[in-house]
Amino acid sequence: MKPVSGTNLEQARAHNRRVVIEAIRVHGPLSRAELARLSALTVQTVSNIVEDLVAARLLKAEEPRRLPRGQPITPYSLNPDGAYSIGLELERDHAGGVLTDLSGAIRARARRPALRPGPDEAIPLMAGLVEEMIERAGIDPQRLLGAGLAMAGRYQGEGVTSLSPVALPGWAGFPVATALSGRIGLPVLVENDASAAAIGERLHGVARGLGSFVYLWLGGGIGAGLVLDGQLYRGSRRNAGEIGHMTVVPGGKPCPCGKRGCLDRYVSLGAVHAHLGIGDPLSLDPAELDRRLEAGGEGIEAWLDEAVGPMRQVIDTFELAFDPETVVIGGAMPPGLLKRLAERLEPLPPPLDPKAERALPRVILGATGKDTAILGAAALPVFSQTNPQFDVLQKRAR
Ligand SMILES: [Zn+2]
Repeated sequence: MKPVSGTNLEQARAHNRRVVIEAIRVHGPLSRAELARLSALTVQTVSNIVEDLVAARLLKAEEPRRLPRGQPITPYSLNPDGAYSIGLELERDHAGGVLTDLSGAIRARARRPALRPGPDEAIPLMAGLVEEMIERAGIDPQRLLGAGLAMAGRYQGEGVTSLSPVALPGWAGFPVATALSGRIGLPVLVENDASAAAIGERLHGVARGLGSFVYLWLGGGIGAGLVLDGQLYRGSRRNAGEIGHMTVVPGGKPCPCGKRGCLDRYVSLGAVHAHLGIGDPLSLDPAELDRRLEAGGEGIEAWLDEAVGPMRQVIDTFELAFDPETVVIGGAMPPGLLKRLAERLEPLPPPLDPKAERALPRVILGATGKDTAILGAAALPVFSQTNPQFDVLQKRAR
């Protein structure tokens, strides 16, 4: 097979460093011998890499394991303080941020209200959040890998919006990633909520180590994040998984997009609010929905009855199209409500091969709750700088 690109020694070392970090992220603390076995590298190569990574403070040595015979074995784990990342989200009513360490733990949070901000307001606002969180966390800014931003699509290309998440002029053709990066002096990666959440679950959550899975994001609308063969699949214009306006009920409810029976009208917070008789979701305090759910949630059952059919249809479509290991459900919807929806999904449509052995259930709930997009955004720089498959992808793209 013809090699896709030349690899020099430095590139190979950088790639192998990613392989070692990923192995420890997926399996937990590992010794040099275990790392060599898992990565198919020599013990000598692994030893050199481990030494480099310990010196860079990305790995740390754990307590040696004593064995009945021979030398004790030292396992290595990721050093949470070795690197940090920033996750940002821009919604219709606020901008929010988290600063996480290498393990994904939140070290600082910040949030400011902003009603449907345009770029002139949003970029300085987010830069302010970044500054505030760095100061509050008391970390060395040199150890920041970058910032990720989760915002609803749609996109024209690399970090350039085509339609605004806030339906206001000013965002069309706006280079979000470049503008924000110039302002905060860090690399910036931009993805839609569903893709960011998928990466977050892949790095720290229920999809850790999975090669292929689909993330169904339920929030104001519905979208899908696709991780296929270890890589985030974005599509030719970065709009893969924008499924909100696929027809699930022919001739069904009218949609602002002009069609009828769109998925968004049945499975989204907007659809829940419609069943509860709330006109504008923006006028509702998010905690209010939780309170109504606890109080029995009149109208919720009716929504579940209506949502479960379209949801089964979507899961069936993605399973047949992509053969994923599992479908993860999560998003900005209250976790209690997502759980009730998930519990109602059975019986799912029969799988393609009912006898196939499964390591995971067909549908699982995401681990990160309502923070899923913002934690996913923080995971983007970590994933892009430590995941070996992503590294190969970038090399090919050059
Ligand atoms: Zn529509």
